[in-house]
Amino acid sequence: MSNEPTIVMKFGGTSVADAERIKRAARRIVAQKEQGKRVVAVLSARGHTTDELIQAAEEVSPNPDPREMDMLLSTGERISCALCAMAINDLGHRAISLTGSQAGIVTDTSHTKARIIDVRAERIISALDEGMIVLVAGFQGVSTSRDVTTLGRGGSDTTAVAVAAAVGAEVCEIYTDVSGVYTADPRIVPDARKLPQVSFEEMLEMAASGAKVLQLRSVEYARTHGVRIHCRSSFEDGPGTVVIGEDQTMEHPLITAVTHSTEEARITLVGVPDRPGAAARIFTALADANVNVDTIVQNDPRSEGVSAEVTFTLATEDLRIAHTALEPIVAELGITKVDADPEVGKVSIIGAGMRSHPGVAAKVFQVLGEQDVNIEIIHTSPIKITCLIRADAVPVAVRALHDAFNLADSDVKPEAPFGQEAR
Ligand code: ADP
Ligand code: ASP
Ligand code: MG
Repeated sequence: MSNEPTIVMKFGGTSVADAERIKRAARRIVAQKEQGKRVVAVLSARGHTTDELIQAAEEVSPNPDPREMDMLLSTGERISCALCAMAINDLGHRAISLTGSQAGIVTDTSHTKARIIDVRAERIISALDEGMIVLVAGFQGVSTSRDVTTLGRGGSDTTAVAVAAAVGAEVCEIYTDVSGVYTADPRIVPDARKLPQVSFEEMLEMAASGAKVLQLRSVEYARTHGVRIHCRSSFEDGPGTVVIGEDQTMEHPLITAVTHSTEEARITLVGVPDRPGAAARIFTALADANVNVDTIVQNDPRSEGVSAEVTFTLATEDLRIAHTALEPIVAELGITKVDADPEVGKVSIIGAGMRSHPGVAAKVFQVLGEQDVNIEIIHTSPIKITCLIRADAVPVAVRALHDAFNLADSDVKPEAPFGQEAR
């Protein structure tokens, strides 16, 4: 093993969307190599390739087989890696592209949502030892039963972090189409501010509530394995956002960010028998079908034996699987109605400082009320308040909350130049 430091550089779909961008990524990768680094690059599928592959599957089958889906979806990232390896070779360096399987990414057998259980990085390390730049196809692995798997939407982030942990990289750089993690999605809030740092705790809540700039599992993996994540722009230089441990944070601002999602659905089960074990039956069936459930609310029927209503939210993409999984349970428990609503949106405010500040929730409800936004369900954690609202009300709600909590202003105000009044 050499003493040179290793880095992992991950490029997202927009960053490799066309030939020019692949060449630009290749130049950035080579620049790091020429500075004496051992470089592993993890690439996503180009542009909208993954969406197009999903659409192609749906055009031939209303309910595509998950194993075959993974065979199909994994091709997108392979294309990016092979092309980038060619571009790097033309810059006078040796590069090798590897599929997830060749790179030793071993997963469980949950097709389309697999979890990484091991990274056997020998092949990556020996290629690095030979002086090569290694390109790993993101978003995929090989299951314990030797089938190709994919890691869920946005999964290349997790590939990058897992590879960084396995090769002992000094940093995992996530290159994307924004300059880092912002106080809100900069596409919805033009004056959103880039955060120089964000704690793991807050980043986990942000990723879980829709800030897709980092996939939730990549943040979990980084926290567990002590990987340093630096999220930055692939189109300009300059620092982005570093995700750091809670112990390294100086002081917590009250509110750090507003996040949102419009890819949520709600299911309400009417007439659930009020008896022990009923909820367990429902949610075990969903868990067995690999459906991630978010907010769960059950009303209290007040008098014993009267049926209850159970409401929960889930990703819109899981709605069909959830319906199928619930069918036998609906019959077994005598549930009278399954009401599904695919047009749900979610807006959340996140901040480690809210733990010690009362009144944040009241202010959120007031701001949304003033905008005429109706709150359907409220869900909180110690550092997050989430409101379920109509999907089409999300942009208005996000902007109003970002404004009301002054997130565009940095907490640390620069000193006013001599002779000028501070604001
Ligand atoms: P990539 O293809 O590089 O993986 P993604 O589309 O997965 O990129 O994630 C980047 C996108 O995340 C940005 O274009 C931005 O619109 C969105 N996003 C949502 N919330 C945030 C946030 N708080 N900070 C930065 N980006 C955000
Ligand atoms: N290409 C995959 C997706 O679009 C994985 C990724 O980009 O991270 O979800
Ligand atoms: Mg992504």
